[in-house]
Amino acid sequence: MSNDIREISGALAIPSALSPDTLAVRAGIERSQFNEHTEALYLTSSFVFDNAAQAAARFGDKEEGNVYSRFSNPTVTALQTRLAALEGGAHCIAAASGMAAILSLAFAVLKAGDHIVASNGLFGSTVQLFANQLGKFAVDTTFVPAADLAAYRAAARPNTKLFFVETPSNPLTEIVDIAAVAAVAHEAGALLAVDNCFCSPALQRPLEHGADVVVHSATKYLDGQGRVLGGAIVGAKAITEEVFRFLRNAGPAISPFNAWIILKGLETLRLRMDAQSANALRLARWLENQPAVSRVHYPGLPSHPQHDLAMRQQRLGGAVVSFEVEGGRETAWRIVDATRIVSITGNLGDTKTTITHPASTTHGRIAPEARAAAGITEGLLRIAVGLEAVEDLEADLARGLEA
Ligand SMILES: *Cc1c(COP(=O)(O)O)cnc(C)c1O
Repeated sequence: MSNDIREISGALAIPSALSPDTLAVRAGIERSQFNEHTEALYLTSSFVFDNAAQAAARFGDKEEGNVYSRFSNPTVTALQTRLAALEGGAHCIAAASGMAAILSLAFAVLKAGDHIVASNGLFGSTVQLFANQLGKFAVDTTFVPAADLAAYRAAARPNTKLFFVETPSNPLTEIVDIAAVAAVAHEAGALLAVDNCFCSPALQRPLEHGADVVVHSATKYLDGQGRVLGGAIVGAKAITEEVFRFLRNAGPAISPFNAWIILKGLETLRLRMDAQSANALRLARWLENQPAVSRVHYPGLPSHPQHDLAMRQQRLGGAVVSFEVEGGRETAWRIVDATRIVSITGNLGDTKTTITHPASTTHGRIAPEARAAAGITEGLLRIAVGLEAVEDLEADLARGLEA
């Protein structure tokens, strides 16, 4: 393929040995004839050629260069280069959304008759995609408890081609041991893909722990301000080339505008993740001391059953905290309804703190018994902590907790 899959260094030859902080603001910059300082936004669907011979060379992959923005676009290329650098991967392909990225990965690495082993704490649409849509193409999925290594091993079959996990899981923040599951996957001759949405490369770099590919919903922390949808796949060229081949023909290409927003979002990613993780840790500690709270799930707390593993794999605990309150749904809804600052929404990954009651929203379609078995109780609330002052968040939650 041509220019779309580009080495980390990019045209300005930024060495990938630089610190992630430098790469976050410098990687992927390719200046136009105007020598602009900030990254340019190329809002164009197609590109013109100097002459017929060049058009033929570009179409025939004999010459590098852009042809059409479903295939490649300089703003999208800049995002891909920067995100690959931050994840420590060889290549990155951006997609229209997180689900477009996961779909593209599935079509790139699977065929009819193949099998997926997936952790059971996955994003709802990923579960639907694997269990229902891919099933139509004779691809089966076995879901296993996220933290149960023996279950991953037992689920592997001769036709297993892909292991797919999310860590920390949503909403219970269970930790998947990436290195251990990678070893199981490789023993089975399969790839391990990690959805790194909750941590982002600022806190966790799955490829360094043995994962083969990272997928992202860039809609969440990479943008970080709730503005646009986007997704990405990062990994070795053998995988990303197949992803690109699917994506350029199937069509879920990212808009250059969205790519530009996310590219600029990456520049403040570590600052935001550090500050939001610090806020989340403070809020989690405060929640542990509330009489109405029976349990707090947060990987950054020593009380988390997998705290040590989390701290080996992640730099910080992340921004998602969930907790259980006495009194089930009634108390949980009272807390949600008493908030005046925190936003009541299923989304996460924003500078604005959000609160969700999983049992009646994101996990509402799961049968009550299955939901309870998965630990999603009626008294469980999930908070994705933003950048507000923690005292203001505490006061906002205290109103419902103390009522
Ligand atoms: C939101 C989300 C997705 C899907 O991303 P979209 O950009 O909404 O398509 C996938 N995985 C996780 C963990 C998510 O939170």
